[in-house]
Amino acid sequence: MYDVIIIGSGPAGISASLYTIRANLKVCIISKNESVLEKAEKIENYYGFPKGISGNVLNSRGTEQAKNLGVDIINDEVVNIKYEKNFIVETVNSRYEGKVVIIATGKSRKSPSIKGIKELEGKGISYCAICDAFFYKGKEVGVLGNGNYAIHEAKELLPVAKKVTIYTNGKKPIENRDEELNVDFVEDEIKEIKGTNKVESIEFFSGEKRNIDGIFIAEGIASSGDLAKKMGVMLKGKEIIVNENMMTNIPGIFACGDCTGGLLQISKAVYEGTKAGLSAISYIRNKKG
Ligand SMILES: Cc1cc2nc3c(=O)[nH]c(=O)nc-3n(C[C@H](O)[C@H](O)[C@H](O)COP(=O)(O)OP(=O)(O)OC[C@H]3O[C@@H](n4cnc5c(N)ncnc54)[C@H](O)[C@@H]3O)c2cc1C
Repeated sequence: MYDVIIIGSGPAGISASLYTIRANLKVCIISKNESVLEKAEKIENYYGFPKGISGNVLNSRGTEQAKNLGVDIINDEVVNIKYEKNFIVETVNSRYEGKVVIIATGKSRKSPSIKGIKELEGKGISYCAICDAFFYKGKEVGVLGNGNYAIHEAKELLPVAKKVTIYTNGKKPIENRDEELNVDFVEDEIKEIKGTNKVESIEFFSGEKRNIDGIFIAEGIASSGDLAKKMGVMLKGKEIIVNENMMTNIPGIFACGDCTGGLLQISKAVYEGTKAGLSAISYIRNKKG
């Protein structure tokens, strides 16, 4: 059981961890893949580096600093957050319980650029199986994606839908998967999702077409927006809405960094991570009190 579970090991998540761990709390960071910082060849606009610093080095120094202070760094992919007396953060390999969750997963990815997706959002195109599975009781649905997150969403749909198919859109499906998973995989590249007032069919560049009632978008790993939706955290577009203490509309869930929108810069991520960390400390102490 952790006091604080931080999702994401970029500058926002690491900064939140530095404050919470030094307040004598039990803290872990769960993160998969590198921060976008790794893509920055040279950073010249962040305080304290007269000759600039590569994003890669800055990020690994941050992670080392958190580790040295006693933060548990867990390399895993988060697929769900739920509440059962405490928050439960589910990953591909395990589940973790915490009093507070800080979402620091960076900027939400763009929607896939397949014709029809934008137009049919909310009309059969969904981004959250836990939220919307109920509407597809007895229907045929697809999940768009090829990784662990797509498998997680398919598993959420299986108990309610008549049939679940994972559409990988030309990519190879993940190999390490549950043999008993009762879903078909279609690897063809998608040309268009069609429907007038709701999703009706999916068409492929091969010329094939399939009738379908709904499609759940689950490409790559779960983004901040995906995770937020599962807990009813309010969003503005793809950005998480927070108050002045970086708390979302759900008490005990905080967010910081690129995932809250605004300036997409390290200094802002560090500030918000600091603020989220300090607010999490007060929240836990007040609850105890
Ligand atoms: C090419 C490039 C150059 C840049 N140059 C500069 C610059 O010069 N100066 C500057 O100030 N800023 C720069 N930036 C922006 C800066 O990198 C970001 O603003 C900053 O990294 C945001 O920090 P963050 O902690 O919010 O998110 P991120 O750094 O994106 O970290 C998010 C972390 O969450 C993890 N994660 C996401 N989803 C999950 C999940 N489901 N499960 C587990 N882990 C997950 C990610 O893998 C990642 O490790 C640049 C960005 C890019 C792309």
